[in-house]
Amino acid sequence: MAELTRFYTMFQPAHYDIFLDINREEKQFTGKATITGNAREQLISIHQKNLKILSVQADGQNIPFTIDNDADAIRISLAKAGDTKVTITYKADLTDTMMGIYPSYYTVDGVKKQIIGTQFETNFARQAFPCIDEPEAKATFDIALKFDEHPGEITLSNMPELRVKDGVHYFDTTVRMSTYLVAFAFGELQGKQTTTKSGVKIGVFATKAHQANELDFGLDIAKRSIEFYEEFYQTPYPLPHSWQLALPDFSAGAMENWGLVTYREAYLLLDPDNTALDMKQLVATVIAHELAHQWFGDLVTMKWWDDLWLNESFANMMEYVAVDALEPDWRIWETFQTSEVLAALQRDATDGVQSVHVNVENPAEIDALFDGAIVYAKGSRLLVMVRALIGDDALRAGLKNYFATHQFNNATGADLWSALGDASGIDVGAIMNSWLEQPGYPVVTASVNDGQLVIEQQQFFIGKAQEAGRQWQIPLNSSYETAPAILTAKKVVLGDYAALRQKNGVPFRLNVGNNSHFIVKYDKTLLTDILDNSTALDSISKLQLLQDLRLLAEGKQVSYVTVAPLLLSFADSHSAVVNTALYQVAGNLKKFVTPDSDEEKNLKAFFNKLSAAQVARLGWKAKDGESNDDQLTRPYVLSAALYAENADAIAAAHALFTANSKQLAALPADIRVFVLRNEVKHFGNDSLFDKLLEAYRQSSDASYKADISSALANTTDANLIAHLIEKFEDADTIKPQDLRAWFRSVLANKDGQQAAWDWIRDDWQWLEKTVGGDMEFTTYITVIASIFRTPKRLAEFKNFFEPKLETPGLTREIKMDTKVIESRVELIEREKDAVNAAIASIIE
Ligand SMILES: [Zn+2]
Repeated sequence: MAELTRFYTMFQPAHYDIFLDINREEKQFTGKATITGNAREQLISIHQKNLKILSVQADGQNIPFTIDNDADAIRISLAKAGDTKVTITYKADLTDTMMGIYPSYYTVDGVKKQIIGTQFETNFARQAFPCIDEPEAKATFDIALKFDEHPGEITLSNMPELRVKDGVHYFDTTVRMSTYLVAFAFGELQGKQTTTKSGVKIGVFATKAHQANELDFGLDIAKRSIEFYEEFYQTPYPLPHSWQLALPDFSAGAMENWGLVTYREAYLLLDPDNTALDMKQLVATVIAHELAHQWFGDLVTMKWWDDLWLNESFANMMEYVAVDALEPDWRIWETFQTSEVLAALQRDATDGVQSVHVNVENPAEIDALFDGAIVYAKGSRLLVMVRALIGDDALRAGLKNYFATHQFNNATGADLWSALGDASGIDVGAIMNSWLEQPGYPVVTASVNDGQLVIEQQQFFIGKAQEAGRQWQIPLNSSYETAPAILTAKKVVLGDYAALRQKNGVPFRLNVGNNSHFIVKYDKTLLTDILDNSTALDSISKLQLLQDLRLLAEGKQVSYVTVAPLLLSFADSHSAVVNTALYQVAGNLKKFVTPDSDEEKNLKAFFNKLSAAQVARLGWKAKDGESNDDQLTRPYVLSAALYAENADAIAAAHALFTANSKQLAALPADIRVFVLRNEVKHFGNDSLFDKLLEAYRQSSDASYKADISSALANTTDANLIAHLIEKFEDADTIKPQDLRAWFRSVLANKDGQQAAWDWIRDDWQWLEKTVGGDMEFTTYITVIASIFRTPKRLAEFKNFFEPKLETPGLTREIKMDTKVIESRVELIEREKDAVNAAIASIIE
C-alpha cells in the first residue's frame, strides 16, 4: 500500500465545474472537471479511482501527468506553484457496487427500470470526478448533468436546478462543502413537497413503484425535524431545499448528502395505514439523524476521518433529542436504552475494540471506522452523558457558538469540547478524553466492607482480556449525595453504610437514569435492598438492572443462574422498555440449550410461563386506543409464545394466516412476521414457499419484504434452504443490499446453518467482489460471530478467517469476532448445566 499523503497539502481547490454525460444504456459516463485552486507545490496529486483520464490541462495548456492507481492519484507536474485552473477530461464505467455513481434497479408493472444515484462517503467521489477527496478540502461546486434522458424524468442535486439547455441540467453553485457530500440523482421519480416555517423547501422522492401516500410520513418528519433543528441549534438551515430520496439499492441506512439526503427505501417510505410503531420510530430517527448532520457534519465537518465520531456520535444523539421533541408520546429515549445502550455495552466489553477516536490513514481502514456499536452507539451515549452533565441550555449555547465559528469549515473534537466548556464552565474535554481515547468502559463495584460503603472502578470485559489499568472520569449520578459527582479515583470509601442507608431512606444506587457509560455490580446486601424495593423503580431502572446483570453474567462476574428468576418477577410489566429488556435477556438463555433436547423443552416451557399472562392480556389484535407500550410489547410476547410452541398461539397464527391468505400484506404489520414464520415452520410446503418468494419479488413494501424474508429463512426443509441459497447471488430476487439480513436469518436457523456457512466460505470471493468495497462488508463477519456458539464452529471460523487477518479493513473485526465466539463457547461450557438446572426448577 502506497504511502498516504494528504493531497490537500499540495493543492487546495476553491471551485469545481463538473460536467457529466451519463449513458445508462452502455453503463458508461464521460466527464470534464475544471478545478480552480491554489497549488502549494509544483507537483500536485488529485484523487481519481477507476477513471480513464483522457487529458489534463493547466491554465489552458496540455500538461504531462501520470496515474498512480495504488494511491488513487493523478500526479501532475505544473509549470509553477500558485493559483491555477486544472481541467481534466475522462471516462468511466457505471458499476453496480452501490458506490460512486451507480444504478438502482426496480420494477413497475412488470417493467424493469433504473434510477441513477450517488454514494460518495467515505472516498468514492473520486470514482465520479477527479477531486481532492478529503473532508478538509472544501470548495464550491457547479454541477451540470446530461444523460440519455426521456420524458417524465426528474433530476435532483444538492442545489436547485437553474436551467436546462441542450439537454444539460445546470444546478446552482453550492456553498463551500466537502466532496463526500456532493450528490445527484435522476430517473422517473415521484415527489411530494412542503415548506418549513422559515421557507426551506422540503421534499420526499421515490420511484413510482410506491404508493404516493408512502411519502407522507417522511415528509412530515423531515419538515418538522428541520424546523426543530433551526430552533435548537439557533442557526438557520443553510440551503434553499432539503430533499429526501429513497433509492432501491442502497448499502448503508441513509446518507446525509447536503440538501439531497439518500435513504434505503425501508428507512424513508412507509405505508401510513399499516406499519408497526417500532418501524415508524425507526424511520423517524433515521430521518432526524440525517437532518441533524445538515449542520453537524455538513455545515461544520470533521477535519479528518479520525474525528468521524464527531459527525456520527452527535447525529446519533440528536436523532433522539429531535424525535423526543416531535413525538413526546413515543418516549423515544426508552428505545435508546434497549438499542444503542445495549449495542455499545455489549461490543465495548470485548478486548481489542476500537476507541471512539481512532487514528486512521488507509482508505480501507477509514471504512472500517464505521463501527455502529462504537462510533454511533457508544459515541452517542458519551454525548448523552455530556448533555446530562452540562444541561440543554449550555449545550445549545455551545453549539450555536461552534456553528458560528466553524461554519463552512472544519473542526476537531477539541473544538467542540472548548465550545461546550465555555458555555458550561465545566472542563468537558478533560472528562471526555478518558472516554474517547480509551476503548472499553468500567464496571463500578459497590459493596459493604466491614460496615463501610465502598465503590471501585475497573475495566469490564467479556471474554479473554489483558487488564491495562485503565481508569475513567465517571459521572456517577448516585442516589446518595455522599458519592462524588465524578469518580476520578480508582476506589472511594463513602462511609458507614448503616448510617447512610438510614439517612437517605432509599437503597444505594449508581448511574440513576442510566446515562453514563458504565455498569454497576452491587454486592449481595445492596442488590437485595434494591430488589426488595423494586416496585418503586421506574422502567429504565428495571431495564438497567436486567441489562447490567446480564452483562455481568456474560463477563462471568455473576452466574446466569441469578438472572433467570429475576425475569419472572418483571414478566407482567406493562412497560415496553422493561419487556424489551426482559426478552433480550431471555433470548440470551437460548445459547445454553442444544436443539431438540430436554433442556430446550424446559426453556420453551419457561418462555411460555414468561409470556402466557401477557398473551392473554394483549391478544393478537391491537385494541382501539391501546397504549404505545402495549403495541410495542405485543410482538415480544407473541414471539415468545411461538418459540415456546404454545399450541394456542400456533393455532391462532395459523387461523390469521388462513383468513388473510389472499391478502397477506394486509395482515397487521406488527404481528405479520410471526404469522408468516409460524406458517412456514408448521404448515409449510413447496407451494407456500413459492408463493411467498414470488410475493417477495413483487412487493415494494420494505417491511413486508423483511417479514417474508424472515419467514422463508426459517424453513426446516433442506431442499428449500438450498433453493434460497441459490437466490443469494440472484440480484433480481435478493438485492445485494438485503443479502446480509437473509444470510443472518438462514445462518441462525439450525436447519439452515450448515448450508449458509458453506455458502459464504465457498463464495467468499463472489461476496468480496460484489460488496467488498462497501462500508458494510465487515458486518458479514460480525453476523457470523453473533450466532456461532460451539467449539466446532469456532474452529471452523478460525480456519477460514485467520488467513484473512492481513486484509486491510478486516483485521480488527476478525480478531474481535474470534474473541466473541471464544468467550461464548467458554461461557456455555461453564454455565450450561447450572443454567439448565435453574430453568428446570423454575418451571416445576
Ligand atoms: Zn450519520
